[in-house]
Amino acid sequence: MTTESSLRADIVEVGRRMYARGYTASNDGNISVRLGADRLLMTPKSVCKGFMTADMMCITDLNGRKLQGDRDPSSEMLMHLEVYRHRPDVQAVVHAHPPTATGFAVAGIPLDRAVLAEVLTTLGSIPIAEYATPSTSELPDAVRKYIKAHDGMLLANHGALTVGGDLYGAYFKMETIEHFAKISLVARMLGRENLIAREEVLRLQGLRDTYGIKAPAPICADPPGLETAAPDAEDPATCQVVQAPAGGGQRLVADTPDPRERKARAAAGDETEIRLTYRELSALIEDAIRSLR
Ligand SMILES: [Zn+2]
Repeated sequence: MTTESSLRADIVEVGRRMYARGYTASNDGNISVRLGADRLLMTPKSVCKGFMTADMMCITDLNGRKLQGDRDPSSEMLMHLEVYRHRPDVQAVVHAHPPTATGFAVAGIPLDRAVLAEVLTTLGSIPIAEYATPSTSELPDAVRKYIKAHDGMLLANHGALTVGGDLYGAYFKMETIEHFAKISLVARMLGRENLIAREEVLRLQGLRDTYGIKAPAPICADPPGLETAAPDAEDPATCQVVQAPAGGGQRLVADTPDPRERKARAAAGDETEIRLTYRELSALIEDAIRSLR
């Protein structure tokens, strides 16, 4: 089996898996891989990714000119070309609309909390590229901001994009993002998330080399915030780092602390901002007055 035919078969298989897992509906999503230094093998426009055959793929150059194939290349070809242009290390690009991750993208909530070790080591933080009209040149513009530093991102009101050193690497990052989104959703429905402490996150960052993970985005930056992963004065890479609290061990971070915990924290002199209902505040004042008597 030649490299090209095995890559065609891999694209068919990854498309089938994406469709079977509900990451795409109808003709959504697209997949591409590098075919040598200056050519790409890409899914065609307007086909269901669950029912592709190897002969359907298009071959284009890095400027998007079709070199081979009966069909036109993906409507999101410009986004794929932008990724390859900025990431010589990337061999494959996967785009899909996995529903839970896309829900976060619609809600405008990035997956940026330090909660799962395997997500931290493989992807770090998962930012949201600004909304852009699908299939236009706006989308590559939006993706450009984060792609130099990130192997995976959400696309606002649209879906998700992942890249990798091979096609399965890119596809598994899509699985990781959707899995992470589902777990984050459940944790938030349960009302709290235990964030992994910053010290542990830094330890995980150090383990990337041990596991041979080549994710470009630093998980933690010092100071936290926007960082330049690959300095380029004209077009700097933007990196979003994870939210990880300082302090040894795990720290409980409650999104919605229950009233008893809030009162206990208030009574213990915790200066973290808390919100009390009028009734809770009255009860606290009454307790304080009683203790003075
Ligand atoms: Zn899409």
